[in-house]
Amino acid sequence: MTAPLILIVEDEAKLARVLEEYLQQSGFRTEHLARGDLVIPHVRKEPPDLILLDLMLPGRDGMEVCRELRQFSSIPIIMVTARIDEIDRLLGLEIGADDYVCKPYSPREVVARVKAVLRRLDPRLSDQSQQPIIKVDMVSFEAHIGGRKIDLTPVELRLLNTFVEYPGQVFSRGQLMDKLYLDNRVVTDRTVDSHVKNLRRKLIEHLPEQELIRSVYGVGYKLEL
Ligand code: CA
Repeated sequence: MTAPLILIVEDEAKLARVLEEYLQQSGFRTEHLARGDLVIPHVRKEPPDLILLDLMLPGRDGMEVCRELRQFSSIPIIMVTARIDEIDRLLGLEIGADDYVCKPYSPREVVARVKAVLRRLDPRLSDQSQQPIIKVDMVSFEAHIGGRKIDLTPVELRLLNTFVEYPGQVFSRGQLMDKLYLDNRVVTDRTVDSHVKNLRRKLIEHLPEQELIRSVYGVGYKLEL
């Protein structure tokens, strides 16, 4: 298996060089671009396995680049930013980054983040034949985790089904409401929260090691497999 290729988009040459060194030492292949406007054409030609994308770039803003990448690609993107106030937006549906690293960072931390994101996404990218941990059958209205049946209410089942269909995607409470209540009944954010809480509790009983449903602060929830 070839080593994963990490594209570093960073206009500060020194930072880029340090990152390249650390990533290479950890067994990754790297490539580097110093301008935002070069990213899309480059990725279309030769898609990397992950992109480390600086926010402030000459040529084109990292946020804009990320948004456009998401229109045609699900390549994992880690945003590198000094602007903590932008994090919720970066990870939200609008921009769609997978994770972020705050400047100033330690290169070691960046490497750990890269590994974590790849590990998180790898089962579903690299081994499609693998039995999914969670199976939801909306005909028999049953869900199984690792082969064992899990008892869920109809609302919890629909909730789980929504997450399983789009792993990694962040859903706002409003979007979840639309999926959960087909009769357009009006429910509050707190109702959604309590269903998520109950579902989470039941999942943790079956998979104590994993926190499958994660809250994304200020945005909503997502499933991580
Ligand atoms: Ca920069």
